[in-house]
Formats: sequence, C-alpha cells, structure tokens
Amino acid sequence: MTTKQTITPFQVELTAPDISAYRASNVGIDYVTRYDSGKPGPHVIVQALTHGNELSGAITLDYLFNQNFQPTCGVVSFIFANVAAYQMWDPANPDGNRYVEEDFNRVWSDEVLKGPRDSVELRRARELVAYIDTADYLLDLHSMSAPSAPLMVCGVRPKGGQKSINLSAKIGLPEWLMVDTGHANGLRMIERGAFGDPNKHNTAILLEAGQHWEKACEQIARETTLQFLKVTGVATAEWGDSRCSLPALEQKVVQVTEGYAAKSLDFQWLDIYNGLEVIEKAGTALAEDAGHTLRSPYDNAVLIMPTRSQRFTVGSTMVRFGRVESIA
Ligand SMILES: [Zn+2]
Repeated sequence: MTTKQTITPFQVELTAPDISAYRASNVGIDYVTRYDSGKPGPHVIVQALTHGNELSGAITLDYLFNQNFQPTCGVVSFIFANVAAYQMWDPANPDGNRYVEEDFNRVWSDEVLKGPRDSVELRRARELVAYIDTADYLLDLHSMSAPSAPLMVCGVRPKGGQKSINLSAKIGLPEWLMVDTGHANGLRMIERGAFGDPNKHNTAILLEAGQHWEKACEQIARETTLQFLKVTGVATAEWGDSRCSLPALEQKVVQVTEGYAAKSLDFQWLDIYNGLEVIEKAGTALAEDAGHTLRSPYDNAVLIMPTRSQRFTVGSTMVRFGRVESIA
C-alpha cells in the first residue's frame, strides 16, 4: 500500500513522557496497571496510546500516576495500548508513528482477533482483549490531525451510542458529542462486545482532545479523565473537581450520516478546514480528488475530523458529515 508522506504543517508543543516505569504490570500484561480499592464498585479503564503519536493520553496517565491516584471504590486500570508505535515517536516526524503495521483501533471484531492474521497491533490487541472486556466503563484517549474543537466519539446508535452520550453528558465535557456509523474498515474498541450492546450497562467513550500536539490537548484530556473518574464513582467529587478548571459547556450531539474515503493520493482540500464547520449550502465544493469534486451532501452539514494529516492512503476516511441534534 502506498502512503503519502510530506512535511506536517503543525508544531509539536507537547513533550512525550517517558513511560518505561509503567511497563511493570500487576496483572501480567506489560503497561497495564490495576488499582483495586478492595471495595465493591465498577471496573473503570482509562486507555492511552491507541495511536502512537497521540501524546495527550500518555501525558494524562503519567499525571494520574504522579498524583498517586487511588480509587475510592471498585477497580481502576490504566493501559498504555500501542507502546510499540509510541516507542517510534520522533518529534521531527510526528505523523510517522500512528501505528507500526496497522491501525490498532480497527482490529476489535472477534472475527479479526480470532482470525489467522498477524501484526504488531493484533498481537497487542490479543493480549489486551480479555482484560478490556471486563470493563464496566472505558475511556479511550485520542487526538486529531486537525485543530478541531475537542469531541467525544460515542459509538453507533442504536448500539452503544446512547449509553455513551448519557455518560458524556454526566462528564459535561467536551462540548461536542458525536455518534457515527462506525468504520467500514474495522471495528473500534469502543464498539466491541458489551460496549456495543444497548441492553448491557458497559459503556465506552473515545475522546478526541484536539490537534495531536497542541498544548490545549493536555488540559482537555486530563480534565475529561478526571471527570470520568468522578462520574463513574471511583474518585470523589472533591478530588476530581479540585484538579479541574474548564468551564461547563452546553453540549451538542452531532449524528454522522456518511464519510468520504480518499480515491487517490492527490486528494486536496479547497480551503482550510479544521472540523465542526457548518457548511450552509448543499453542493458546496470542498475538495478535489482525482478529477472528482467532494461536495457537501445537504444544507448545514457539519464537517467532522477532516484529515489534515499528510499520511493517508487510498480508502482513508478524509472527513465525515453530520447533522446537529439536541442532546435530549
Ligand atoms: Zn486516535
């Protein structure tokens, strides 16, 4: 597969923490740390580094370790997921280590996990899956290629999407909650098993904290995680709130209706789009792609996560379109 590679247009403002001290595990899986309060309560997982170059999740877990976080009830686990990709981090080529061989967040169907295929990412996913499946609540920390406002990916309706919206509404961050149609090229962790079953309580959410390397990502990821630990009941309100300063915002739900996959490596945006722009008129030309013009599909279409990364392949999702709805 050919991948387009050019110079990234974004500054790296974040510093990748040294996570080597977190390799030693108390559950026998490298880079998984479990805190058991000894009291009844949910199993709450915070995962960082599903994508190797998304630093704010690793910075958040490093912060929680340094704060000596201990759950007041239940069990909390911190996971650094694709450490092999993270170890390839090079601030001079920050787009270069999203994954080693394949996207770690597209391998989570049982069919793929139990299938014959092999890759660095599949080996790690096979190591983690049984543990992930014990989560009552999961927060997966990510960031985006474009400097979009942060958003919570709430999975698919009618599967787990509504549970994830409800949990995000309790967290109160971020402003934008997105329900989508999944990824055609593979199941994400937040959709697998009980997370994707509307009749089970298990709930997973995925935070896109902002542009991968911008300073603001750090605070969004940290405070969303603190509020997540609070609303799942494993941290006290006092402990969580005393470490937060972001104002509560009125949240909006955007329902993704469709995505657009690159037809060629010549895909070019016609303007600078960062995400969450509302395109007033249907048919507005947005990008050129091998003689094809990408146009907005309906009036007031919201652009979601337009890819600003120069590392994409034919078939990569370049943007999604959505409609805003009220949270009720
Ligand atoms: Zn990601």
